[in-house]
Amino acid sequence: MENTYQILKDVNLATRTTFGVPAQAARLVEVDSVAVLQEIIKSGESIQLILGGGSNLLFTSNLTGLVLQNKILGREILEEQGDDVLIQFGGGENWHETVGWTLDQNLFGLENLSLIPGTVGAAPIQNIGAYGVELMDRFEFLTAIELSSGKSFTFNRDACNFAYRYSIFKGPAKGRFFITSVTLRLSRKAELNLDYGALKTILANKNIRDPKPKDVSEAVIEIRQQKLPDPKMLGNAGSFFKNPIIPLAQFSRLKQLYPDVPSYPAGVGEVKVPAGWLIEKAGWKGKRIGNTGCHVDQALVLVNYGNATGREIAAHAERVIHSVKKTFGINLEKEVNVWGTPD
Ligand code: FAD
Ligand code: NAP
Repeated sequence: MENTYQILKDVNLATRTTFGVPAQAARLVEVDSVAVLQEIIKSGESIQLILGGGSNLLFTSNLTGLVLQNKILGREILEEQGDDVLIQFGGGENWHETVGWTLDQNLFGLENLSLIPGTVGAAPIQNIGAYGVELMDRFEFLTAIELSSGKSFTFNRDACNFAYRYSIFKGPAKGRFFITSVTLRLSRKAELNLDYGALKTILANKNIRDPKPKDVSEAVIEIRQQKLPDPKMLGNAGSFFKNPIIPLAQFSRLKQLYPDVPSYPAGVGEVKVPAGWLIEKAGWKGKRIGNTGCHVDQALVLVNYGNATGREIAAHAERVIHSVKKTFGINLEKEVNVWGTPD
């Protein structure tokens, strides 16, 4: 049978990722249906990487194998019960447009996750989160195709093993499945989460006393546009590192040395320390080395000043990790997926 898909050759990945570093895929298919995915798997060709919107990836070399980019679209209401609505989204849908669409339908729960780049299918991978809300809060189940067998699997919330910026797809199931759809449980009733200080402040400044979900979404968008570099202007992949979660005893020692260190509760006996604060305190905020550096307003974001290679940015990340370890004794873990051969 004739292929129903087109294999693109020598594809420039710089324009398909938000870091915009030079990298090529020898072969790339834009997968727009499960049937096409099954056909590719049946062909026996080995799949090197699944690409969504490329907003959490740093390439440090070219990709010699086959890359599949998720372009599976679709939105379907599966069930409505009382205020609850179960909706399935194609994995290739754009996340931010999806959030906007839900708000237009008076479906609430995703407002704090506005303006996060990338696809719906990648959202469960690191359990995307912002302003006190995580994907897992609204997640019901996902469907995924196993790349080795072509078999279809359903993962409910427990099976995904979600945690802080983590799921099974960043752990033991990494690279094994192509997520084709994600089903979320949204609500007709707004239950707003306004815990984050910046969100409270901006709503107060706008004199919005009884915010609606759209107000919250607009406030989140405004804060993000003020604070974060726009990848179209300055290549980046958002926060490069996770906020470390450390034992209380270690935090007490840190607090004695640095009384101004911020922290947030993170479960029994542990606290979360903002990585941005650690990086800034270690002297890296706004510091540029060659074509890369830590952003001037948000030290946690590594940026491409125009001509950086993936290796340069990866080397900068290692410098920051080493420096934070030396200064505070804390290990920073990368949040961004670094892909390629090391130096
Ligand atoms: P990609 O970068 O394309 O891929 C990420 C990883 O998932 C890769 O390992 C890839 O192989 C894998 N993958 C992608 N799609 C699939 C699939 N369908 N099946 C299986 N594996 C797949 N993240 C947050 O959590 N919170 C934020 O607030 C946030 N803000 C950001 C702000 C900016 C400016 C930027 C640039 C990034 C930000 N991010 C944030 C990170 C990023 O947007 C998210 O992690 C997003 O979910 C990545 O989606 P993507 O489609 O771009 O994934
Ligand atoms: P911020 O408001 O300057 O706060 C710094 C850090 O402190 C955040 O990372 C956040 O942790 C934590 N924090 C702040 N208020 C908190 C509260 N009330 N309870 C618990 N933790 C709190 O953060 P920011 O850098 O401007 O980012 C704002 C939000 O957008 C954060 O949720 C952040 O994760 C998200 N964001 C994520 C990315 C990414 O690429 N992952 C990029 C930009 C923004 P958490 O990160 O755990 O929320």
